[in-house]
Amino acid sequence: MAQTRIVIAAVGDLMCHESQIKEAWHDSLYVFDSCYSVIAPLLSDADIVTGNLETVHAGKAQIFTGYPRFNTPDEYSLATRRAGFNFLTTANNHAYDRADIGIIRTLHVLDSLGLAHTGTSPVNDERAKPKLFNIRGIKLGWLAYTTFCNDSIPPAHRKMLNLYDTTHIKEDIAWLRSLPDSLRPDKILLSLHWGYEYELEPRNEQRERAKWLCQAGIDYILGSHPHVVQPTERLTVVREGVAHECFVIYSMGNFLSGQRTLPRPMGIVVYLTLEKDTLNQVKLLSTEYVLTYVHLSKQIVGKKPKVSVRTKRQILPLAEWCEGEKAKLLPVSVVQDMKKMKQEVEARFQKADPLFKPRRTELPMKF
Ligand SMILES: [Zn+2]
Repeated sequence: MAQTRIVIAAVGDLMCHESQIKEAWHDSLYVFDSCYSVIAPLLSDADIVTGNLETVHAGKAQIFTGYPRFNTPDEYSLATRRAGFNFLTTANNHAYDRADIGIIRTLHVLDSLGLAHTGTSPVNDERAKPKLFNIRGIKLGWLAYTTFCNDSIPPAHRKMLNLYDTTHIKEDIAWLRSLPDSLRPDKILLSLHWGYEYELEPRNEQRERAKWLCQAGIDYILGSHPHVVQPTERLTVVREGVAHECFVIYSMGNFLSGQRTLPRPMGIVVYLTLEKDTLNQVKLLSTEYVLTYVHLSKQIVGKKPKVSVRTKRQILPLAEWCEGEKAKLLPVSVVQDMKKMKQEVEARFQKADPLFKPRRTELPMKF
């Protein structure tokens, strides 16, 4: 049998601050699609495209707001779907921003858009189950947890959010391992919302937690929450006498947000390529990244005398846009900021994990 390869593309936090809601309002409609107009082709060739949806869709009647209690128009997730995302995780500290109504309605919106999800449950009878994938014979089990929530959740809603709990994680792993052959995952992934805001390195307690998780059966950990990019780590653990190599990215930063303080506009797309060999063993063939930058530009809209200036927000692949002809399309100060952030983060990546490599990209000169 031929070898099979699949690609997972993962990003960090998908945020929607007040400024984003305002600028998305176009002639009585919310439109977020232009945020993805440049970056979308870099997502389209992956089999799974995932991110952390750090807001809720509680509906218009609840009033759309940014930080500290998010409620975002449904069109935000629609644009995410159109950009190529097919799986969102919803376990984060903002999941309960609009109580149970927010959780329930968000999942309904994601279902209606055909976006797979895990991390929250619409009922309190049962926690969200890990998501199962089978892509060309490569099977994955995917968990999503958050180490905290901004609100204290009453007992009547406690199972609706996957709050970090080692007993629950062990139960999930045991459930995945108990599945029949046709479903039992080759690899188990965990999207974990954890860590400390704006810190560029993980703390030791996270490194210890990562070790425990890998030992318990998690193969790849995809971290979010600090709003800045943190490095990766490879851990070798022995489970039942067999050595496993695990991969951790501690934080993937903001993929889309209203945060402008450097380096918060920078995020990352992490590409994991998995291969099933002729012996039916699934292994991690490569781990690559594309740095991203949320760029703001001004656009003049309308016709004289009724012209107005509108802010346009776009996610750019950072490395490609801070060099050559493309860089000439951006203000010099923005290019300088991008170069500085790239240099700083790549130095940290190189030190932490030289196997984590930049992915080559070549996008059209489109802006
Ligand atoms: Zn968070």
